[in-house]
Amino acid sequence: MKFQSHDFCIVGAGPAGLTLAQRLTAAGKSVLIVERNDRPGGLSKSYDYDGHIFDTGPKRFHTDDPIVKDFITEVLAMHEIGRSTLVHFADRYFNWPLKSSELWKMPPQISVRAALDMVRKKKDLDLTTFRDYIRLQYGDTLYNIFFKPYTQKFLRWSADDIHSDWASTGINRTVIDERVKANSLFDLLKGLTLPKKIDTKFLYPMEGGFGGFFDRLFDICESTGCLDFLPSDSIAAIEDKGDAFQATTRGGRELAFETLIWTGNLNDLAALVGDEAFELKYLNTIFFNVIAREEAVRNNRAQWIYMSRGDSLVSRITCMREFHGSTTPAGYYNFICEVTDSQSEPRFFDKAQGLTDPVLAEMEAMKFLKSRRGVEAVHVNPVVDTYPIYHRRYKQAFGGAVRTVKGFSRRVHLLGRSGAYWYNNSDHSIRMALDFAEKLLRDPERHFDHRQYFGGSVKDEHSDEHLTT
Ligand SMILES: Cc1cc2nc3c(=O)[nH]c(=O)nc-3n(C[C@H](O)[C@H](O)[C@H](O)COP(=O)(O)OP(=O)(O)OC[C@H]3O[C@@H](n4cnc5c(N)ncnc54)[C@H](O)[C@@H]3O)c2cc1C
Repeated sequence: MKFQSHDFCIVGAGPAGLTLAQRLTAAGKSVLIVERNDRPGGLSKSYDYDGHIFDTGPKRFHTDDPIVKDFITEVLAMHEIGRSTLVHFADRYFNWPLKSSELWKMPPQISVRAALDMVRKKKDLDLTTFRDYIRLQYGDTLYNIFFKPYTQKFLRWSADDIHSDWASTGINRTVIDERVKANSLFDLLKGLTLPKKIDTKFLYPMEGGFGGFFDRLFDICESTGCLDFLPSDSIAAIEDKGDAFQATTRGGRELAFETLIWTGNLNDLAALVGDEAFELKYLNTIFFNVIAREEAVRNNRAQWIYMSRGDSLVSRITCMREFHGSTTPAGYYNFICEVTDSQSEPRFFDKAQGLTDPVLAEMEAMKFLKSRRGVEAVHVNPVVDTYPIYHRRYKQAFGGAVRTVKGFSRRVHLLGRSGAYWYNNSDHSIRMALDFAEKLLRDPERHFDHRQYFGGSVKDEHSDEHLTT
């Protein structure tokens, strides 16, 4: 079946695709969104199991960017929340950032060794590597007992082969508040002895979970009458006819559009427009959405709990009620366990359902869950492409993919977490899309350097071409 021709085709209905669609449709442009999933929202959609709401990836907006803040509050009224994070380390739970009153809980040999690292001179460091970047900032002890095992478990990749951009965008971003950011072991220890009050505020929708925001954004786009949405499909072939593209989808639809904006998996696009494969790797994640009675869960509770042990399945627990009461019916304390998996060497993805028991056993052993008897249901949600992996050759791979795409046509643009192959948060995808809409509608010369805006190294001989949108 043939669609009428569109001004723009956007691949991917996540935060980047939907924000761009909102701006383009509001300007009267005709937009088609092609999405491989059966509903919009991307990593940011939420699930509602009879009133028990579970988010997928994102749980809260955190931005001080007035442009993004204005956009978010224009779309939906938001609830302001604080933050609470725990780290499970050496069989105990610690507040994060650490509080000095809890120092006594740390094994003394660790604190002493970590302090000695400060005075030891470090030689021959390669600061493009994750390993040496972290060793310089936090010392060998903390690298070996915390950062390395956690990173290898989380990324399912050798920490020795990870680029320092993972540290500068990923890890630094978990310590969101600039006032408590520890850029060296000295800062960290200073922060421990003189803790500052942290009062960062985050935004969360008042109903429908985090994904409620993107459901609303999608409705706004649809209400313009300028949006067509093609779910459960993807582009199988594309041809550049000079002033327009013609494409067919896996579902057999024929499409025509002037400009393509790609927010989906970059390997898919590179395969569509060229015949070279690039070493662009993404991580998969299985989310175990657990419906549990309140009394089944111990008091180690927070929005997020990081599991530092390298040999555990779960890397993080998310407790839905800590974000908003509307997500969790009275008498329940629902939580999500995240298990990441490699795409190239999958160990868990194909047998995700069978992992429910070991995951719950781990929650008991780590003294999060009192008893499995209080668990009423576990919904298993395997999601692909949750994070790009910055191995040490990723910039060359990304640069190669960009050159292939641009060689095919200058009217194809990359955007968002997967398309721009950049670890980000949803506020960042929103900001990229708002800037990109300005460029498409008003100012073709506009440059927005998303990597500098968000963190990570900017200068890059291999992929400079697409460092700006
Ligand atoms: C576990 C986790 C926790 C997170 N926590 C937070 C948080 O607390 N706060 C926050 O702001 N952000 C958080 N994030 C990040 C947030 O999810 C992303 O920043 C945001 O979803 C990126 O939006 P996007 O539109 O760029 O990409 P995505 O959300 O990934 O959307 C891309 C879309 O493209 C589709 N697609 C891919 N390939 C194709 C194809 N070939 N054809 C058709 N469709 C395709 C996908 O199905 C998807 O719908 C978290 C992410 C994860 C994984």
